[in-house]
Amino acid sequence: MPTSRLTLSSEVKYLKGVGPARAELLASRAIRTVEDLLYYTPFRYEDRTRLTRIRDLVPGQTTTVLGKVLTCGLTRTRRGKYVYDLAAAEASGRMGAVGAGLGAAGPSGSSQGAKERAASAVPGSGVAPAFALSDPQPSRKPAYAGGMIRCKWFNAIYLEKNKVFRPGQLVFFYGRVDYDPYGRGNFEIIQPEFEIVVPESESESGSEAEPEPQAATEASLQIGRIVPVYESVGTLGSRVLRKLVWGALASLDGQVPECLPESVRRKNNLMDRSSALSQTHFPDRNQPLEDLARFRTPAQVRLIFEELFNVGAGLALKRRKAKSVEAAQFRVTENVRQAIKKILPFHPTTAQKRVLKEIVEDMCSAQPMNRLLQGDVGSGKTIVAIQATIVAIESGWQVALMAPTEILAMQHYLYMKQLLRPLPYQVDVLISARKAGEKEELKKRIAQGAVHLVVGTHALIEPDVEFPQLGLVVVDEQHRFGVLQRYKLIRKGPAPHVLVMTATPIPRTLALTLYGDLDVSVVDQLPPNRTPIETRLLTEPDRARTFELIRAKVKTGEQAYVVYPLIEESAKLDLRPAVRMYEHLSRNVFPGFRLGLLHGRLPSEEKERVMRAFKEGEIQILVSTTVVEVGVDVPNATVMLIEHAERFGLAPLHQLRGRIGRGRRKSTCLLLAGEPRTEIADQRLRTMTESTDGFRIAEIDLKLRGPGEFLGTRQAGIPTFRIANLLRDEKILEWAKREAAEFVERPASSEELEAFVQLLRKTWPHRYGLARVG
Ligand code: ADP
Ligand code: MG
Repeated sequence: MPTSRLTLSSEVKYLKGVGPARAELLASRAIRTVEDLLYYTPFRYEDRTRLTRIRDLVPGQTTTVLGKVLTCGLTRTRRGKYVYDLAAAEASGRMGAVGAGLGAAGPSGSSQGAKERAASAVPGSGVAPAFALSDPQPSRKPAYAGGMIRCKWFNAIYLEKNKVFRPGQLVFFYGRVDYDPYGRGNFEIIQPEFEIVVPESESESGSEAEPEPQAATEASLQIGRIVPVYESVGTLGSRVLRKLVWGALASLDGQVPECLPESVRRKNNLMDRSSALSQTHFPDRNQPLEDLARFRTPAQVRLIFEELFNVGAGLALKRRKAKSVEAAQFRVTENVRQAIKKILPFHPTTAQKRVLKEIVEDMCSAQPMNRLLQGDVGSGKTIVAIQATIVAIESGWQVALMAPTEILAMQHYLYMKQLLRPLPYQVDVLISARKAGEKEELKKRIAQGAVHLVVGTHALIEPDVEFPQLGLVVVDEQHRFGVLQRYKLIRKGPAPHVLVMTATPIPRTLALTLYGDLDVSVVDQLPPNRTPIETRLLTEPDRARTFELIRAKVKTGEQAYVVYPLIEESAKLDLRPAVRMYEHLSRNVFPGFRLGLLHGRLPSEEKERVMRAFKEGEIQILVSTTVVEVGVDVPNATVMLIEHAERFGLAPLHQLRGRIGRGRRKSTCLLLAGEPRTEIADQRLRTMTESTDGFRIAEIDLKLRGPGEFLGTRQAGIPTFRIANLLRDEKILEWAKREAAEFVERPASSEELEAFVQLLRKTWPHRYGLARVG
């Protein structure tokens, strides 16, 4: 079998063992090239150099056991449930026969690390067993007397149907070991992961040996080494993936081109890429397992660094490019000071003053501002944006402010129009719900430069909206928009200053990567005289008491929100939909009070009417869906009841709760939780009662959900990582980002930078899923 030389960019279908079906499976996980496959890294490792004998197992321990199948088959419990039941006998003592003669060397012989690996491989390989028992004493007992292990899989009819096991097979079982309650001192593992050992003679790869001399049979990838365990790809389990990766590494034969700049690699003492890849998949037996499990071996660290360095450098380059264009230069004149003084409704907090200063400094420089204004709900970002707006308009430029919902856009519009009344500005609003004629008229006036401030929804980014003098773009609740939408608005001006605002507190690690191309200002202080919100967790029996509490509050002149998850009856979920409950509450629970209903499917004028009525106190209790989640500001509202709170995520709960606690009076958030609840839901609710700190809540949310889910999967422009994990790798992230910025600013040579940029351009969209924008 001739060894075909593959490169990283070769398609996986050219790998041995990959036919059209497997290629398609792999493609479903975005594994298309050899490089993709090599960056599909193990999520855990099993030490199969030292196997624990069954009789030495300790209950409660999670471990790998090698057993020989005695009996197996489907059984039924007394309640009629199917259980696949397998009994296996001690087999670790018999492994010499299978494991003998297998070297533990890596697949790519000519890479740098080969020497050390050879040294760490089994001495006298080919004679001695390639693994050792944890108990070096030879056993005097017969093989099975040390105990048996029972394995059970519930409802695993497929195991029977596919004839997965048969007596005599050697199988690795991985899982938590416990005493078998029916088995007189024997052990059991419930639903273990398993891997059937393929003896050398049966191994498919036996006839298609990989390059000499490191020939690896399939069995040698399973036994006698630290083996990588992969997340399955469809029906492709660890065993197959391991073989494919091994084959890929072998066919590259150490020829993996370095992708980090050499100067960076040397300065930071990082392993070369080729060794790092092969050591990550097939670690030397001398690698500490704890390091492997924590992803902290030199090989793993190198790959994590590489990924984060590339993103960091990409963002640094983008940022440098953005800074290279000339922006509208604003000036802070006496007029500006007077104008702001005229409209300010309160004294800004120290935090507000500080962020305004940062923003104004940016806007007065020759380069366009690209700044994220982060601040917890209710921290007062709006007034900061208004002050920036005044600077822009006074300098002779137009301002566009984009908000994610019509309700919020209208609220901003009405508030700003009223606040800016003392100033001679033209303020208008563009949302798709307005009449066609009005919109045409408005667009014409915008194009003539006759409107100074345009507030709107994504209707603003439609192609026929043209600004002759767009100097400042403000995007509120920016996490609700994709990066592309943001850029569409920005492109409407030659090089406008950009201020994006978010109330979603993004944990530091995420902010560092997501917003690496943005400068960040944080409003880390709430306006004065706020009483902390009290949050109570309630259940169905508390309902009457809950309603009573709302009645009492509203009687004193305060207002309330009652929030429901869905707007209409749902066949599947027993939720109390807003519409039905609105009627019920009006008639039976709060008769004599003025109630209003708000949900996303109401016509725009109706939404506007309801919001205004609530704002003016005409409506006392607003029954609503989550449309009130972002931005809505009615300081007199001091109670919020969230029904079916267990169904909401932490971020929406925090945002919703942010609608109250906006005035001086004490606010109360009532979380009414239904049944059944998951453990995670309970954790979320507990978190809500324990903290009102958005950053703390976001950190917990991130831990509960993981970065992908936290951000809403695959929002355009968010890098997806293959090996880096932002929760685990915060330190490496900071390190890599620092090095990336340093490299872009002061590369060892311009050739090195140029070569790196070329490489990054090729891999950027594919590897990080980042659209090339700007
Ligand atoms: P967010 O940051 O969530 O957008 P807002 O800008 O809506 O917050 O402000 C929340 C509330 O606090 C508003 O009612 C606003 O008028 C008020 N507010 C903001 N800054 C101050 C301040 N410095 N002093 C008093 N009230 C303030
Ligand atoms: Mg806001």
